[in-house]
Amino acid sequence: MAQTLKRLGIMGGTFDPIHYGHLVAAEGARHAFQLEKVIFIPAGRPPHKTGRKISDPHHRWIMTELAVASNPYFDTSSIEVERPGYSYTIDTVREVRNLYPGAEIFFITGADAVLEILNWKNVNELLEMCWFIAATRPGYPLGNLKRRLAGISPEYVKRIIPMEVPALAISSTEIRARVQEGRPIKYLLPEPVEAYILNRGLYK
Ligand code: NAP
Repeated sequence: MAQTLKRLGIMGGTFDPIHYGHLVAAEGARHAFQLEKVIFIPAGRPPHKTGRKISDPHHRWIMTELAVASNPYFDTSSIEVERPGYSYTIDTVREVRNLYPGAEIFFITGADAVLEILNWKNVNELLEMCWFIAATRPGYPLGNLKRRLAGISPEYVKRIIPMEVPALAISSTEIRARVQEGRPIKYLLPEPVEAYILNRGLYK
C-alpha cells in the first residue's frame, strides 16, 4: 500500500554483517537530511561481487532486522533478498518510489561503492530519481570522490553528497576476520547480531 512521506532514506549495503558503523551513518544521515524514515535494504545478489562468497541473503536480512529493531525511525525491507536475479539499485529505487509516491529519496551507502557508480545500471536515471549520500571512513580523501566522478555531468555530481562518519572505522571485513580468528567482536555491532553470528556459526 502506498504511503506518504516527504523525505525518505534507503540504506543500501551487503551488510555481511551489519555493524555500528552502518547504524551511526544512517542515524547521522537521518538527522542531517531530516529524513522521516530510513529503510535498510540488504543487497540480495550484488552484481559486482560474483567472485567472493557472501553469506546467505536470509542471514544478512535477519541480522539487519535485529540491528534496527530499537530505532523507531529505522525499518528494513527484503525486496532485494526476494527479487530474483542480480540486485540493481535502479530496480530497488523504482519499487520504493511506487510505495512512497512523491517522497524525495536519499540513497545512503559507502563512498567506495559510490565511486563505482558510473558502472551501475541506468546511472543517469538513478541520479535523476534520488540523492546519494556517500559515507566515508576517517582519513578517506574526499577529493578522490570528486575526481573519480569527473565523468558524470555536473548537475548529477551535485546529487552525490559525501558524509564523513568516524564510526565507519569499523568494517564488515574486519568483523568477519575477527570471527574466523576467534577474536572478540563485542562492542562493534549490536548484541543480538553478535549472538546470531555466534549461534549460527557464521564466518567460521
Ligand atoms: P561494498 O563493496 O560492500 O561496500 C563498499 C564500502 O562501503 C565498504 O567499505 C563498506 O563497508 C561500505 N558500506 C557499504 N554499505 C554501507 C552503508 N550503507 N553505509 C556506510 N558504509 C557502507 O558495497 P555494497 O555494500 O556491495 O554496495 C553498496 C550498495 O550499492 C548496495 O545497496 C548495492 O546494491 C549497491 N550497488 C548497486 C550496483 C548496481 O546497481 N549496479 C552496483 C554496486 C553496488 P562495510 O564492508 O563495513 O559494509
